[in-house]
Amino acid sequence: MAAQLIDGKAFAATLRARVGGHAAAFVARTGRQAGLAVVLVGHDPASEVYVRSKGKAVLAAGMASFEHLLPADCSAAQLLALIERLNADPAVDGILVQLPLPAHLDEQQVIAAISPDKDVDGFHVINAGRLAVGLSGFVPCTPLGCMMLLTDQLGDLSGMEAVVIGRSNIVGKPMAQLLTAANATVTVAHSRTRDLPAVVRRADIVVAAVGRPELVRGDWIKPGAAVIDVGINRLPPANGEAKGRLVGDVAFAEVAEVAGAITPVPGGVGPMTIAVLLRNTLVAAWRNEGLEVPQDL
Ligand code: NAD
Repeated sequence: MAAQLIDGKAFAATLRARVGGHAAAFVARTGRQAGLAVVLVGHDPASEVYVRSKGKAVLAAGMASFEHLLPADCSAAQLLALIERLNADPAVDGILVQLPLPAHLDEQQVIAAISPDKDVDGFHVINAGRLAVGLSGFVPCTPLGCMMLLTDQLGDLSGMEAVVIGRSNIVGKPMAQLLTAANATVTVAHSRTRDLPAVVRRADIVVAAVGRPELVRGDWIKPGAAVIDVGINRLPPANGEAKGRLVGDVAFAEVAEVAGAITPVPGGVGPMTIAVLLRNTLVAAWRNEGLEVPQDL
């Protein structure tokens, strides 16, 4: 393998330790812990796993975790009333509503109800707008984590050609905004892009956020490019495996022969998402107290 491995797990552990230090400083300064409220509606098994691991990570960082489990058939009014209470609760700095919601609930309406100052997922239109115009707000955790890995690996991104594959509100679009703000020349590719391999071949930086197992192939990559694989896809079980393998949106073995640097799946972007969530929650806490956010947070 020619590429350097970008170790998201190690980077995330360092970030979590830094957040832990600042969380302790926050307690010393304010006499209370920073708090994250996580709302889960229904019993989606993957969402239950995510919510549990977020709760554990919050506690491990020295912050308070408040879990609110609502039945799958809860009404919009019940959910909105809970969000209203959390918005008003001074012990809650960040509010995260685990997506996807059951089909009868309108995700945009629910996200819009969260106070933008507690929207640590960065999904509220106010925060999307702040990112678009270059104001400080909350940036979605996954693309912010990708950006941290990229700047750590490459330093200044000025003038680099970046191709983001995927244009979702939670990954592709904010990723493109962040890269633009860092002075990269950004192309957003998506399901209607013509000749995707040719577009990707231009890139010094490739961010794949598609949800298609091993879509990006070795012969799409410019030699030396940095490749960030956001995809998490489970293959069907093979050869008597109980569970299928987890793969990204990038054909890792092939691409690693050509790229200059690459994130693995698992152990790349995934661990960064939770670490940045902790970071965003603590940033919210300092801001909610009217205090200056520590520089290195
Ligand atoms: P999404 O389904 O909302 O968006 C996928 C995007 O890919 C769309 O914009 C679509 O236009 C584009 N696309 C689909 N097929 C394409 C094709 N053949 N060629 C080019 N573009 C194509 O997905 P998402 O929420 O942005 O997530 C993308 C992937 O990232 C998923 O695998 C998801 O599981 C993963 N993800 C990982 C993390 C993490 O923490 N690592 C966080 C969020 C999402």
